[in-house]
Amino acid sequence: MRRKLIAANWKMCKTPDLAREFVAAFLPLVKDHPRDDIALCPSYVCLPAVVEALRDTQIGVGGQNMFWEKEGAYTGEISAAMLRAVGCSHVIIGHSERRQYFGETDDTVNRKLKVALAAGLQPIVCVGEVLEEREAGLTEQVLERQCNIAFSEISGVEAVPLIVAYEPVWAIGTGKTATPQMAADAHEVIRAQAAKAFGEETAQAMRILYGGSVKPENANALMSKMEIDGALVGGASLDPKSFSAIVHY
Ligand code: PEP
Repeated sequence: MRRKLIAANWKMCKTPDLAREFVAAFLPLVKDHPRDDIALCPSYVCLPAVVEALRDTQIGVGGQNMFWEKEGAYTGEISAAMLRAVGCSHVIIGHSERRQYFGETDDTVNRKLKVALAAGLQPIVCVGEVLEEREAGLTEQVLERQCNIAFSEISGVEAVPLIVAYEPVWAIGTGKTATPQMAADAHEVIRAQAAKAFGEETAQAMRILYGGSVKPENANALMSKMEIDGALVGGASLDPKSFSAIVHY
């Protein structure tokens, strides 16, 4: 049995004060709920506040991105070691918004992934097709390509902490959700690629989250699928009540 992970992606929302307010309201709502893992991924400037507010809890904290270099003249970037130094356990890599607006490619995802794993972070690698690709029947091909490149030159042992999020781009922030069956089918494709790259044992243990307009109303149907090992939640994670309702699916 894979333990589910419910992760919040706050994107470019909340100041440190608002992040602290969220945590103060959220913790009492989930305190007797050890069933699944939980992680919050705020903006960089909120990381220390969130780490501090979550001290003495089991809730993880993640960055939303990182660069693969250790340090140097890379204005605006942040390293894996910096994320670790402020107390991050996780990092999102290759979110579709990074791919769409900031030029991320399957290759940069692979470079970042290797460095994140070496730094001891639990990477959440996002993959998923755009609407035109789904409509053209290319979903499987796109996922295979994204995974093949992202997973290359990483061993089964190194890949143990890896988490993948299947996020169909047409479902992110649109209110449209993949049906549980669509998500489960995509997860099988991803797991098969992981088995090729890392071996069956690592692939079977690897968590594959679903992301794309997850809300309290659809969380139960999605989480009931064996193949869905949790959720990466954007919009509905900004409010402590709605995010805790998803945690309680
Ligand atoms: C996301 O940003 O990863 C996401 C899934 O967003 P939303 O839940 O708002 O669709």
